[in-house]
Amino acid sequence: MIVTVTMNPSVDIAYTLPHLNLDQVNRCNQVSKTAGGKGLNVTRVIHQMNQDVVSTGLLGGALGDFIRESLTKDGIKHNFSDIDGQTRNCLAILHDNGAQTEILEAGPTITAAELKRFEQVMANLLPESDVMTLSGSLPKGIPTNYYVRLLELMSKDSIKVVLDTSGQSLIEVLQSSVKPYAIKPNLDELSDLTNQILTADETALKQALTADIFEGIPLIVVSLGSDGAFVKYTDRFYRVTIPKITVVNPVGSGDSTVAGIAIGLQKKESIEKVIKRAMALGMSNATHQATGYIDQDSYQEFEKQILVQEI
Ligand code: ADP
Repeated sequence: MIVTVTMNPSVDIAYTLPHLNLDQVNRCNQVSKTAGGKGLNVTRVIHQMNQDVVSTGLLGGALGDFIRESLTKDGIKHNFSDIDGQTRNCLAILHDNGAQTEILEAGPTITAAELKRFEQVMANLLPESDVMTLSGSLPKGIPTNYYVRLLELMSKDSIKVVLDTSGQSLIEVLQSSVKPYAIKPNLDELSDLTNQILTADETALKQALTADIFEGIPLIVVSLGSDGAFVKYTDRFYRVTIPKITVVNPVGSGDSTVAGIAIGLQKKESIEKVIKRAMALGMSNATHQATGYIDQDSYQEFEKQILVQEI
């Protein structure tokens, strides 16, 4: 089974307005409210691929209930740990022909007792887990090295962990002695990690991925948006070329790629197949308006057109 972990979920609200009037009342007829957070996007894509998945993390208040209900309605298994604080809203206002104004709540502050309760939930899930995904930021109150703690909890059960986070919580993992099986930085995240401005130049990418901080991580997928990906698997490097597609909304494509990696690891597929599935899911997501949505037809069509070359 695949377990997805979302420590800082949100209910994402999208308001679509022809024009945003500042300092005035704006009335909105087009409203969407969805269970959000990177890990929940990963969950939805794994579920749409008909794979067994359980979603866990922290939820509280009425918005926590909303997320539980929407997962149940979609037929997705979940086992979240309760917190006293309120799960947050993240608001995106789409206005004026393509402008997007976002207001992101910081979210609740987590207590030590709540983290302990969450670890009990995790401990119950570990025996059934083959692959785990850890996605997104950590809410306030949780130390930045908390993903290291989770990796330590999982290390005894030989669970393959796909980690998709950034900033200090990723650096803490890279500097620790417990390693995830896979990470999926995009070009900006890899540039930040290696203190240089990287492009799709393969020689520079190869050199960047051989830095000491990446030692011990078998699979590194550097996603390059419309340029596909550059991959390091053990001591081998791959260039991944994808076809041009008509993009509607690429938000959540990285999460869909993570879902593809997790499915491929769960099925113990060849590295070429893992990469193709991960790319095709990212691409399929980019052809939909909704975040964390794919369809089988475009996924299968894209997968046939992806080229994975060892270099
Ligand atoms: P992130 O969302 O983490 O920044 P990317 O934007 O690199 O990740 O997207 C992940 C994957 O989704 C890409 O490697 C690619 O397969 C697909 N993808 C994303 N954006 C596009 C695009 N504009 N055209 C085609 N494929 C895309």
